[in-house]
Amino acid sequence: MIPFVDLNRQYVKYKEQIDHAIKSTLEESRFILGAAVNGFENSLAEYLGIDHVVSCGSGTDALELILQAYGIGAGDEVILPAFTWVSNAEAVCNVGATPVFIDVKENTYNLNADQLENLISPKTKAIMAVHLYGLSCDMDRIMELANAHNIIVIEDVAQALGASYKGNKLGAIGHVAAHSFYPTKNLGAFGDAGAISTNDGEIADKIRLITNHGQTSRDVHVLNGRNSRMDTLQAAILEEKLKYLDEMNDIRRGNALHYNECLRSLNIGLPQGIDSPNHSNHIYAIRSDQRDELKSHMAESGVNTAIHYPTALPYMLPYAKYAEGQNFPIARRLSKEELSLPVFPGLTQSELADVVNATKEFFK
Ligand SMILES: *Cc1c(COP(=O)(O)O)cnc(C)c1O
Repeated sequence: MIPFVDLNRQYVKYKEQIDHAIKSTLEESRFILGAAVNGFENSLAEYLGIDHVVSCGSGTDALELILQAYGIGAGDEVILPAFTWVSNAEAVCNVGATPVFIDVKENTYNLNADQLENLISPKTKAIMAVHLYGLSCDMDRIMELANAHNIIVIEDVAQALGASYKGNKLGAIGHVAAHSFYPTKNLGAFGDAGAISTNDGEIADKIRLITNHGQTSRDVHVLNGRNSRMDTLQAAILEEKLKYLDEMNDIRRGNALHYNECLRSLNIGLPQGIDSPNHSNHIYAIRSDQRDELKSHMAESGVNTAIHYPTALPYMLPYAKYAEGQNFPIARRLSKEELSLPVFPGLTQSELADVVNATKEFFK
């Protein structure tokens, strides 16, 4: 069976460096806020070309910490795409704010900036620009509208680390950004981990305080915080793996381009922009109106595929009440048509060929 993702292949490839990082951490035994945590934050800040990176427990925490640091809560509205991973809605609801869903664009899968102006109200405090599957949002338009209305733009780079927009790395364009190092992400830890990036020193300081119990020094608590820190072990692993992120992303791009080349004559929707630096190729998403049959056929042919995502947020039990009487036709359609093919770095040439052949066979 060809796996949808195989993390072990990545580990084996960089085993020596990773094992060394883990061993050093164990020997140092500073498991919380050890030297590697700051080390990784600085390396990521340099990679992104940004002033501040603050690490935290997960990408979901990063989103919530950002909202909390900006004082966004009850009575405030946050605009987020109807079609994304659940974390975006969760974070908004967890701080007591109201999610306002915006439909996505059929060709990019990202939020439709044409509809933004209509959704902005005096209560709107932030927009979550989720770079879905790894493709950059239309950042110029989003920033222009947000700045005109005094609204914070939160980039969600969970799927797009390494990609850029007009020469700037994603995560260094909005007012602030959330990153995830969930194991299957382009830069994956060996457990949960996340970070925020920003050029705003005040926000960075505030988030750092919140992640560590609002503590400025031992037993001095200046605000109500929480515990959301990146383990030293994860930071040490990530610092090592960051050196290979571009290399791994290039392999993803090569795999995606190979698929686009081989599948273009078929009656399926292919992802756009995968050959540009705007795409991290986190997920290779195709579209078919026979998606479920295609998925079964792939499984029977020995190929594991995935669906990102089978239910759009406004149609989920906890969030439907925020979308009453509204329609999200593109999000709904994508949730029925999207299928993700394996694209992870480590796929062999023969596996790539098998995925192509299995897909072609279905449309014969
Ligand atoms: C993975 C992901 C997150 C959440 O990251 P975790 O580290 O798993 O909490 C948030 N947003 C998007 C778009 C994601 O894909």
